[in-house]
Amino acid sequence: MKIMKFGGTSVGKPERMHQVAQLITKTDEPKIVVLSALSGTTNALVGISDCLAARNKEAAKANIDKLEAHYRDFVLLLASTEPARAKANAIVTEHFEFLNIILRISFSDALNKDILAQGELLSTKLFSVFLEEQGIAHELLPALDFMVIDAFEEPQLPVIREKLTAILSEHSQTKLFITQGYICRNAKGEVDNLKRGGSDYTASLVAAAIKATVCEIWTDIDGMHNNDPRIVDKTLPIKQISFDEAAELAYFGAKILHPTCIWPAQLTNVPVKLLNTMQPEAEGTVITEEAGSVGVKAVAAKDGIIAIKIKSSRMLLAYGFLRKIFEVFEKYRTSIDMITTSEVAVSVTIDSDLHLEEIIKELEPFGTVEVDTNQSIVSIVGNEIAKTDHILQRLFESIAEIPVRMVSYGGSPHNVSLLVNSEYKIKTLQLLNKGLFGL
Ligand code: ADP
Ligand code: ASP
Ligand code: MG
Repeated sequence: MKIMKFGGTSVGKPERMHQVAQLITKTDEPKIVVLSALSGTTNALVGISDCLAARNKEAAKANIDKLEAHYRDFVLLLASTEPARAKANAIVTEHFEFLNIILRISFSDALNKDILAQGELLSTKLFSVFLEEQGIAHELLPALDFMVIDAFEEPQLPVIREKLTAILSEHSQTKLFITQGYICRNAKGEVDNLKRGGSDYTASLVAAAIKATVCEIWTDIDGMHNNDPRIVDKTLPIKQISFDEAAELAYFGAKILHPTCIWPAQLTNVPVKLLNTMQPEAEGTVITEEAGSVGVKAVAAKDGIIAIKIKSSRMLLAYGFLRKIFEVFEKYRTSIDMITTSEVAVSVTIDSDLHLEEIIKELEPFGTVEVDTNQSIVSIVGNEIAKTDHILQRLFESIAEIPVRMVSYGGSPHNVSLLVNSEYKIKTLQLLNKGLFGL
């Protein structure tokens, strides 16, 4: 059995949904198809939720009506027969009635999650109506029946495996399953989600749960590129990368993949393929355990980074200093991305300011604390980077004009990370594209 996940742009227009139907029926192999919400929907739902949180019901209502109109137009072009259109419109009515009811009750975090879930519920149900109209046999599997996260928001793979296996065994004759990406239930049994871009994570968790032959992520670009195509003009797709390389790239900003979606596939050794819905014949990228080749594969950048420097002469020749510092971050469940040390100072980066004030307060007894916000991590990712021809020399020569705040290498032989003020991010990515890839 294989997994095919289609992102927002791949299902964002009626004609794209028609194309997805073609792609999933090309072979007889049994498959689970994971769908995102139509592009723009989750953003719109976040907007509605924000209006409600700010008690601006009028703006929320206007946004709900605008989104509903978009779905009514979508239905007209999705289905071509009156019974199918009526069925699809009834689904739209049901979900927008829910959003309109929410206008009348008091807002809460649980309600916010319910609002955000509407996008994937709508896309899968509408797609199911279209498949039915086309006479394509399938089963719609509610993700809320098997996707679960624990109290720390971590997906519970063994539970997902158990629940999903039981559900699939009830449909042993079915070859095509459709389910929602992104949405899940939390430890309290409430509707929750796997964070923005989380449909990739659903696909990889489902792939791991059933030990799929392959997890295909279909999107709007022909694979993982060597640099951020939104920022740099000339970028090229990478044929093959390892799970480790892909995970680093996703974590450090390559938006094509959800940051944590690699581990389930890696754990169960299910290959991941990144493919282009708009150009299905393109080779795309294959992600497996093996790196394929030695050298730099790609660069990516992650914004919203905060650098914290703790300077103390007490660090000199002292042991236990770093432990005490790390304990502060652990206490506030804040993960550290980069670390650099000298004899008298340590610099770390974090990507969340949720507990910044408390963290600074607790670090102050250890020395002088300096905080720099608005930083970006630029990561250079590959296999055995320093083994390749003068790569570190080329790297630093190419960005000679950039004031680099931190450099980290050696944690693994597969990554060099640089910290720069975000105003230099674009220039850094462009210079690296020239210096490392000659593009
Ligand atoms: P989907 O809606 O299918 O999940 P996303 O928008 O989440 O698609 O991811 C695809 C987008 O990721 C591409 O359109 C591209 O702009 C962006 N992207 C950022 N970095 C990279 C990269 N290194 N390689 C490919 N795409 C990238
Ligand atoms: N619809 C969700 C989002 O836009 C999940 C996803 O598309 O992966 O973030
Ligand atoms: Mg995505």
